[in-house]
Order: sequence, then C-alpha cells, then structure tokens
Amino acid sequence: MALRLDGKVLAKAVEHRLSAVIKEHQSGIGRPPGLAVLRVGDDPASAVYVANKEKACARIGVASFGAHLAAETAADAVLGSIRELNADPRVDGILLQLPLPDGLDERPLLEAIDPEKDADGLHTLNLGRLLKGESGPRSCTPAGVMAMLRSNGIDPAGKRAVVIGRSILVGQPMALMLQAANATVTVAHSRTVDLAAHTLEADILVVAAGRPGMVGAEHVRAGAAVVDVGIHRRPEGGLCGDVVAAEVEPIAAALSPVPGGVGPMTVTMLLVNTVVAWCRRHGIDHGLDDLIV
Ligand code: NAD
Repeated sequence: MALRLDGKVLAKAVEHRLSAVIKEHQSGIGRPPGLAVLRVGDDPASAVYVANKEKACARIGVASFGAHLAAETAADAVLGSIRELNADPRVDGILLQLPLPDGLDERPLLEAIDPEKDADGLHTLNLGRLLKGESGPRSCTPAGVMAMLRSNGIDPAGKRAVVIGRSILVGQPMALMLQAANATVTVAHSRTVDLAAHTLEADILVVAAGRPGMVGAEHVRAGAAVVDVGIHRRPEGGLCGDVVAAEVEPIAAALSPVPGGVGPMTVTMLLVNTVVAWCRRHGIDHGLDDLIV
C-alpha cells in the first residue's frame, strides 16, 4: 500500500511554524503580516476559496485585507485597487483571485502587482527568478508539492520525474522546481504521443492535467511517488483527482490523496510567501528556507 502524502497534516505543521515566526517578531515589527485578496465578480467557487484563505490567515495571525469588487468593475478601477494595495504598508502579500469575469484581461492586472508582494508567485518577474534560480515568491501549488516530497523523504535528486501538464499555474513551474532539485524532468501535455511510455519511466509522477481519473495503473511504474494535483467535483458529490487512486495505490510507493493532498498545501504556501515577504521587508531571518524552493 502506498505511503499517503498527507497535505493536511503537513499544512498544519507548517502553519504552526508560521504562527511561531509571527509571534516572535510581531511586537518588534509593530504589526502582523498582511495578505490582501482581491476578488472581482461572483464566481461561486472563488467565494469558497477566498473564505478558506481568510480562515487560514486568521488561524496563524495574518491580517486579511482586500476587497470584493462588482463583476462589472472596469479594468482601470481594478488596477487602482491593486496600486492601493501595492502602496499599503500593512500589506505584504496580494492575491488576485482567478478567474476574473468575462471582459477583464488578467495579464496586465497580475503584472501590476508589486513582485515583492506577489503572494501567488505568478508575476513574470518571479517566474523569471524561478527559472534563474534566484529567490522570490514561488508559485504556491508546485511549491506545496515540493514541500510534500521533502517532508516525506522523497529527494528528487537523480530521479526521473514526469510532470503531466504545462500550464503556467502548475506544470511549468513544477518542472522547473523539480529540475532545480536535480531531477531529470519530462513534461507531458495534451499533444504528447503515448503518454504511458513516458509516465512508466517516472520515479516521481506529478499529474496536473485537469482530467478526472486519467491516470490509472497502466501509467504508473512500481515504486513511483505519485502526486495528484487535479481536483474535480464528482457529479454524484465529493471530490476526485486526475489519478484513479484505487488502481494506483497498490503499485505506487507514495500517493497524495484528493482531497487532503496538494489542495491544503497550496493555501499554506500562500501564507509562507506572505510571512516570508513580511520578514524580508523588515530584514528578519525567518528560518523557513526549507519551504522556499
Ligand atoms: P490547465 O487546464 O491550465 O492545464 C492542463 C494541462 O494539462 C495542459 O498543459 C494540457 O496540455 C495538459 N493536458 C490536458 N489533457 C491532457 C492529456 N490527456 N494528456 C496529457 N496532458 C494533458 O490546468 P491547471 O491550471 O494546470 O490545473 C490542472 C489541474 O490541477 C486542474 O484540475 C486544477 O483544478 C488543479 N489545480 C489544483 C490546485 C490545488 O490546489 N490542488 C491548484 C491548481 C490547479
């Protein structure tokens, strides 16, 4: 039976560490770290995600800021809100909740976020820093996957890693992080021919295709570590991932569950980026280097 890569347990442990860092330095700095979540429109899933992020902030002592703008807000007004948050000294991390309503182009808005406050790690400058191995906020989902591998003693160095998916949100930064950790990385995508021929070579398989149940026993090499990034609502209720867990569990050495795997770690890495930015702004040694890949 595969080792369970439990994101919920790890998220809790990381939250404890963040909370301790905040307690130690808050009185010296004179304020807690601040995370601003900017939401535009009424996407129902976003409402749940934003509420979860605000709850996570409250648990560890990060102050929540931000705004909920109407769906018909003009791009200029959203830009104005981002600029205000950039200038707000209480705010260390800014997140623009996606998706935006139709008609709003997310690219110039994401680029307007101060790169040092880019809690999601998706600013072009920060993706460039990742590419060059320079420090900066990292994309939360792949950084969460790296933390899960590390905390379970899975060292990518010298291993063959396959990432399914090449999005800017997950697949691309994931491949860069695994490569930076000295894995030999293959990126598979929707135009890959004979996917299984690639995935069967993987010691570490990260699945981020957004296709429910697309990875089964026929894709997984015995003893591989499999991380399921996909998350889908089943028509009959409940959540599932891109991996058929029941098929893969008996073959893999390790598997992340859905729910309770990558999801909780994504929110936690948002907090890590915020707390680290707070420390950096005040020249404080945060001791969280193992979480910053
Ligand atoms: P996306 O749609 O932007 O990208 C999907 C990628 O998968 C593309 O690069 C595409 O080429 C590839 N792909 C699609 N079908 C494929 C196939 N049959 N074979 C090989 N490759 C294929 O999605 P995304 O934003 O990268 O997200 C991927 C999944 O991860 C989604 O289910 C999303 O909901 C989930 N996700 C979860 C978290 C989390 O916190 N757990 C965070 C981000 C994304």
